[in-house]
Amino acid sequence: MSSEVRVRFAPSPTGYLHIGGARTALFNWLFARHHNGKFVLRVEDTDKARNTEEAAAAIYDGLRWLELNWDEGPHAGGDFGPYFQSQRNEIYERALKKLRDAGHIFEDAGALRFRSPRERVIVDDIVCGKIDFDLSNEETHPDMTIRRPDGSWIFHFVNVVDDIEMKISHVIRGEDHLSNTPKHIELYRALDATPPQFAHIPLIMNRDGSKMSKRDQGASVAYYIERGFLPQAVRNYLCLLGWSPKDDREKIDIDEIVRLFELSKVHRNPATFDPDKLHWLNGEYARELSDSEFHERAVAALRAAGIKIDTYPNEYVRAALETCKGKINVFDELPAYAGFYFADEISYNPEGVAKNFTPENKPRLQAVRDAFAKIDNFTAAEIEATMKSVAKNLGVKVGAIVHPTRLAVTGSNAGPSLYHLLEVLGKEKVLARIDRAFATF
Ligand code: GLU
Repeated sequence: MSSEVRVRFAPSPTGYLHIGGARTALFNWLFARHHNGKFVLRVEDTDKARNTEEAAAAIYDGLRWLELNWDEGPHAGGDFGPYFQSQRNEIYERALKKLRDAGHIFEDAGALRFRSPRERVIVDDIVCGKIDFDLSNEETHPDMTIRRPDGSWIFHFVNVVDDIEMKISHVIRGEDHLSNTPKHIELYRALDATPPQFAHIPLIMNRDGSKMSKRDQGASVAYYIERGFLPQAVRNYLCLLGWSPKDDREKIDIDEIVRLFELSKVHRNPATFDPDKLHWLNGEYARELSDSEFHERAVAALRAAGIKIDTYPNEYVRAALETCKGKINVFDELPAYAGFYFADEISYNPEGVAKNFTPENKPRLQAVRDAFAKIDNFTAAEIEATMKSVAKNLGVKVGAIVHPTRLAVTGSNAGPSLYHLLEVLGKEKVLARIDRAFATF
């Protein structure tokens, strides 16, 4: 027997790539890479009515985006293909014949069923430990169907046959399949095959303790692709769903995770999906991007939001985006954060107006405007010095004039560093916006 590690991700292409599926693929990939083994992608598309090509494409796209490259499977080839169950009928017929010849199969109303040996089966799972299943009671464990009357195959049978044929050494999958495993072991034995090692990885829960389902917001990988998340951040976060290094670190380089990853270290308890943590982690990765990577992604996010950055000079766009670097966690925040740079008219945040555009602040903002008008060299340093001296003359803290000024020129109370954004906007635009703001006082 070869000792090569061979693992597989075996999705049924019925929808998009779910976060849980991506995490299963990732753990298989980590395990394969750690052991210099093979990571196989097998498409379990026996259900013709429910499987679509778009769904298979969404799986490839999601895996590629996460850089979980597969060694064998669709597009990659390999010695154990075809890698679509819909194309493996002959293999299943052969396995069926073997079971039938050995007397394990009986017919029941047109369906073919496997006669259970009705024994205890102990599943020795790397994550869950030893679990004793008693299959002796026919009431609770009826003989499983392996082929429907219409000739289509049942998941359990083709899944096991393929794992044997593809020489899979470890089956790493979601805990929802743990209860299927004793039945699968019966099939391995009936087919004279040694079962692989099993590792059932914990379920993923929402923060409210419910099981994460397809219907939950953020349950698909596409959601993160569309919102401009960074694949390295999402992948890092998925690693933490059921696994952790011994210390408290959360941001860890993928090469190091490959080095550290062991199935025996996978947690037994359910994992909680925390969107805020993913958001934070994405910000950590976003802050590490090079200037050009940041620029490229920022431009894409603004264009996707319909912001017409191409009508502005390149230097202006570049300078504007530089003030945003390090400030946002996810690129879909950028249109709201930086949109004021690329708008002819800004609208004011109503709460900010109530708080900052007060009768008391009107003469203060006027003083700022008058002082700005006198600056020749409208740079962040000059602006800062000017605002400080205006505040001093007015006998107020700088904060008292910073907030109304920011609101007047950006429409918001939060955003890039004020002095820098004013420099980028330029004196003319800044004065015009302050003038316009007076109309709303
Ligand atoms: N097609 C099955 C699923 O998507 C595969 C389960 C397994 O990994 O064995 O749940």
